[in-house]
Amino acid sequence: MKYPELFEPLNLGFTTLKNRCLMGSMHTGLEEDKNGTERLAAYYSARARGGVGLIVTGGISPNIAGRVAPFSCQLSYSWQIKNHLPITQAVHAGGGKICMQILHSGRYGYHPLIVSASRAKSPITPFSPWALTSRGVNKTINDYVNCAHLAQQSGYDGVEVMGSEGYLINQFIVAKTNQRKDKWGGDFENRIQFPIEIVRRIREKVGPRFIIIYRLSMLDLVEGGSNWHEVTTLAKRIEQAGATIINTGIGWHEARIPTIATMVPRGGFSWVTKKLMGEVSIPLITTNRINTPEIANQIIKDGHADMVSMARPFLADPDFMNKAQAGLSEEINTCIGCNQACLDHVFKGKIASCLVNPYACYETILKPTNNFIAKKVAVVGAGPSGVSCAIEAAKLGHEVHLFDRQSEIGGQFNLAKIIPGKEEFHETIRYFEVMLKKYNVKLHLNTLVDPELIESESFDEVVVSSGIKPRKLDLEGAELPHVLNYMEALKNQSKIGNKVAIIGAGGIGFDVAEAISHSADDSQISVSQFMKKWGVDHDNEERGGLIEPVDISGVTSRRNITLMQRKETKLGAGLGKTTGWIHRASLKNAGVEMLNGVEYQKISAEGVEVVHKGVSKVIEADTVIVCAGQLSNNDLYAKLEALGKKNIHLIGGAKVAREIDAKKAIRDGIKVALSL
Ligand code: FAD
Ligand code: NAP
Ligand code: SF4
Repeated sequence: MKYPELFEPLNLGFTTLKNRCLMGSMHTGLEEDKNGTERLAAYYSARARGGVGLIVTGGISPNIAGRVAPFSCQLSYSWQIKNHLPITQAVHAGGGKICMQILHSGRYGYHPLIVSASRAKSPITPFSPWALTSRGVNKTINDYVNCAHLAQQSGYDGVEVMGSEGYLINQFIVAKTNQRKDKWGGDFENRIQFPIEIVRRIREKVGPRFIIIYRLSMLDLVEGGSNWHEVTTLAKRIEQAGATIINTGIGWHEARIPTIATMVPRGGFSWVTKKLMGEVSIPLITTNRINTPEIANQIIKDGHADMVSMARPFLADPDFMNKAQAGLSEEINTCIGCNQACLDHVFKGKIASCLVNPYACYETILKPTNNFIAKKVAVVGAGPSGVSCAIEAAKLGHEVHLFDRQSEIGGQFNLAKIIPGKEEFHETIRYFEVMLKKYNVKLHLNTLVDPELIESESFDEVVVSSGIKPRKLDLEGAELPHVLNYMEALKNQSKIGNKVAIIGAGGIGFDVAEAISHSADDSQISVSQFMKKWGVDHDNEERGGLIEPVDISGVTSRRNITLMQRKETKLGAGLGKTTGWIHRASLKNAGVEMLNGVEYQKISAEGVEVVHKGVSKVIEADTVIVCAGQLSNNDLYAKLEALGKKNIHLIGGAKVAREIDAKKAIRDGIKVALSL
């Protein structure tokens, strides 16, 4: 067995988990959807069949005030049990176990009925909470207990009490959000009575043979957060109150330190859980940026935790555990930590899915649209849209020929993977390569496809996935030798001087600025460097785990970089909701100047002449990098169409260049494959 520690069963006394892996809680948006129950049952069932030891659902509120948003899911009445039974039954039929998370959002809720320990408003929501009365606190505890009991009647194997990420329970524990004068406020012992009573009374109600996981915030990452002594004290009290397992929470939602995004080193926070090992006798789960079986196994082997939690990796690949157990880890579709289709969707009120696996949460929807007839298919362009299409079509049984003019597959992913903090794109390319081989796709690299090549073979279907070309500037001086497009710049970074002007501040402008503002050694920084860079106390002795950030770049003379756009909006406004702030903070720390509302006049030997806020000036630059968006590279398609070729399909950036990203490209590829 390749990962013995990960696959060792965990005996909880009254029940045994088949391995040491928990699928962590993720809200999907299906919880509130009209056909959500059926889709959730299919989604969780796929993960149960895929071998995960225990699943935790997305957060369900115990009452109205605790809802995250006005119409968020709640479990308070026995008539609601029927909405959960299909889920628990599907998971059990798939050989899995499932706990329901009870989440009271407190002041993080997005509606006017929100309550908290005190009236303090959160910095990330527009509503001020009502302070719970003493009666209100008792009523809320009753609601938790009632919710857990209903979960038990719905067939769940247990509940997870959400006591981290800054939600209601945290708001009671920490003095800055709990200024109460009654027995639930005051000193630390009083402030922790709220979670202790919740766990104690749930245990009393549900009996001994029901899992209670308590998610404990071990590193708040906010000013005035708990200190380590308080964390250990709370853990011990929660154990005494009757919890079966303690799970780790890292960072309140209002914290300004990345905790799960792709630039966080893999397994980067398991040291926090390790500190608690030995302090309690119930199992501990660690979490955050664990995305491969190797890392998961190592964490357990090194004694950092008894179990690992992975959430997003099960969106990316439901069969993660079965593949790992069979020794086929190279077949795992790895979560790249981008948040683009999961968290960013949820924050926008859309159904969650996964950039690398569009089937996630669409298990009952993404299906072949025709009766299968084996065909010979050409796919032109091995970027993410073309490769996804080729793999999916071959999986269905078609004979697929995939062409690319380059010597490697991946298209623009080969540029994305060289951006510091985006190294995970290597994993997607690895997964693509393994799958192309597995499904016997005939790969033709170094082959520029023209209409003659297509005509020379009898393809039944032709999919054109030829991507994009960078937009050229219609500006005087744009042809000067010190003007590079982003592809040229990223491939030839030695050509870039010390004073750089970047024209265009979309995703690629930001990535280019990131790549050239940090030294090459900055990528894949160690855990301790990451903690220093973002101001996290690696000893976790300081309150909230915060210290002053330290410049770890080792760069003595930085490039002088100006990033510009014409729009008046804040730079990076179009970046991902959950990651844009990290990119902005990183460039700010690297001293990159960001200008909006710029009118470009011309490019000269001195730099870029602009009018900025009504003032003419020269942005001095020895190198100008153009990141001004893209146009579709659809010449081949147009020629095939003009020749009257039938059964041709255009996908990815070649079809629509505006706002094309990997999420759309991969989904597009799969949808066309399912329609062949
Ligand atoms: P492409 O990836 O452009 O692939 C097209 C392929 O077609 C190429 O390999 C090309 O060689 C081949 N080709 C073209 N014409 C022919 C022909 N005639 N014959 C044979 N082969 C041909 N997106 C995200 O969602 N998240 C990110 O974080 C992200 N980061 C990025 C960072 C950078 C630096 C860059 C450049 C892009 C990033 N993107 C990101 C965008 C994402 O990579 C693209 O949206 C995606 O690659 C588009 O996929 P595609 O298959 O349509 O085209
Ligand atoms: P983009 O996000 O559309 O940005 C293009 C930039 O060029 C904008 O800042 C735009 O700003 C500027 N621009 C457009 N036309 C111009 C012109 N004629 N002259 C000068 N400036 C012009 O596109 P992108 O940065 O090329 O990224 C392509 C795709 O890849 C995007 O869809 C993006 O989502 C995806 N991507 C995502 C990430 C990520 O981290 N999620 C990273 C990289 C790429 P003004 O019009 O205001 O000047
Ligand atoms: Fe992981 Fe990105 Fe998929 Fe979310 S969208 S699960 S972060 S790969």
